[in-house]
Amino acid sequence: MTLGTTATPLRVAIIGSGPSAFYAAEHYLKSGLAVEIDMFERLPTPYGLVRGGVAPDHPKIKTVTKVYDRIAANPNFHFYGNVEFGRDLTIDDLRAHYHQVVFGVGAQTDRRMGIPGEDLLGSHPATEFVGWYNAHPDYRELQFDLSKEKVAVIGNGNVAMDVARILASTYDELVKTDIADYALEALKASNVKDIYIIGRRGPAQAAYTNPELKELGELHDADVIVSPETAELDPLSSEYVLTSGDRDAERNTQTLMRYSTQTPAGKSKRIHMLFLLSPTALFGTENVEAIELVKNELYKADDGTLRPRATSEKITLPIDLVFRSIGYKGVALPGVPFDERGGVIPNVKGRILNADKSVAVGEYAVGWIKRGPSGIIGTNKPDSQETIDQALEDAKAGSSFTPSAPSRAAVEGVLRERGVDFISFAEWQKLDEAEVANGTASGRPRVKFSRVDDMLNVVRAAREPATGD
Ligand code: NAP
Repeated sequence: MTLGTTATPLRVAIIGSGPSAFYAAEHYLKSGLAVEIDMFERLPTPYGLVRGGVAPDHPKIKTVTKVYDRIAANPNFHFYGNVEFGRDLTIDDLRAHYHQVVFGVGAQTDRRMGIPGEDLLGSHPATEFVGWYNAHPDYRELQFDLSKEKVAVIGNGNVAMDVARILASTYDELVKTDIADYALEALKASNVKDIYIIGRRGPAQAAYTNPELKELGELHDADVIVSPETAELDPLSSEYVLTSGDRDAERNTQTLMRYSTQTPAGKSKRIHMLFLLSPTALFGTENVEAIELVKNELYKADDGTLRPRATSEKITLPIDLVFRSIGYKGVALPGVPFDERGGVIPNVKGRILNADKSVAVGEYAVGWIKRGPSGIIGTNKPDSQETIDQALEDAKAGSSFTPSAPSRAAVEGVLRERGVDFISFAEWQKLDEAEVANGTASGRPRVKFSRVDDMLNVVRAAREPATGD
């Protein structure tokens, strides 16, 4: 049987609705084959980390959703929101209704530091704080004690920068954004004064990008504090910056050097940039009260990168709130192979591998669950294309699931039977309109719904036939 013809369209289930999932859909839709793409998303809302991860004060980055909306408008694409893989639909269900399945579920949890005191009150994964301020339903009930004054943000990636910047922003800066309404109020009452961004390597090895570092210096009521000794590069880093052609490293070290020459303006909040320090313990009785850090030096590893090595020198910093921002980590999906150590689905160019390393026919991975939590939104486009190229090759070679009931009606029948109230893309767009309208009413770009029930109520109300005469 030839797949991808009008008589037998290639039916694909995509799990997840973030950038990698949408780029996967786009590549199938542009393949020239007849395809039917069904995208399943656990939440009623699409876009993954574009909605739940990108910082609220980065609206331009979020405009990428216009591209996803165009993909969703294709008649061969269908969105099923509020459907959880593993609960509402299993891998066996997908095998019964589709020829291929693509997992683009991202990395749902955080990496651990593995040090004593990590779970003291007041020590949080940055990923949870990000979900909280972005109105993600999973995190909206979390409590962050912003009555505290001294905060440590561990890690030197863009997430650490986002967290530090949101903590250091004023109400006027935040009210212009689509930050969750409850987070806006909590941050308005915040008592945070000193934010320490702590990197285990030096200024030249920071993972954040230069615009994010510069944004810290543009905040209305926060000084960025970098001591001259901190900004100064060790000989190995100097050589690296001079010879590697790494523009990010060059720009970041220059920006930090500039910060180190500035006199603090006496603003209400201070962002302290610290380098070459690794956390070794958090201290406190119930709540975290201090962080112990070991000073590191850099050495050249066999692969040529500069790695941190602990010295015997330690310092202790009084601190009462900690955000651990050392990376995201993937979570295993029911019935799908998983590499626990790497936090990814094992794969070769996106073709999923079973535990015995054989190819899992018809199963593919894209995005962070494929390659780990790295790269910007645009990185996902070539990444998804690589995977879908393999999938299309397999489809042409006849290597795929052999579904017994390959139709949308059959899938929807299963979901209805199970009482799953799935929502369509048009229904999400109603929700979107309601959020924007709620924003207009309060002078904000949008006020996000943060409870699944509230979202479903809006969708259901819009579904009800008009009453009256
Ligand atoms: P990331 O860029 O991988 O940064 C993780 C940071 O944690 C690194 O500085 C790393 O240091 C440090 N780290 C790791 N293990 C550590 C440990 N045990 N102790 C101390 N520090 C440790 O991850 P991320 O910030 O979570 O961001 C994830 C991805 O999303 C990145 O690709 C990022 O660029 C992207 N993102 C982009 C934006 C944006 O474009 N505005 C915003 C947010 C996120 P080492 O380098 O020494 O390993």
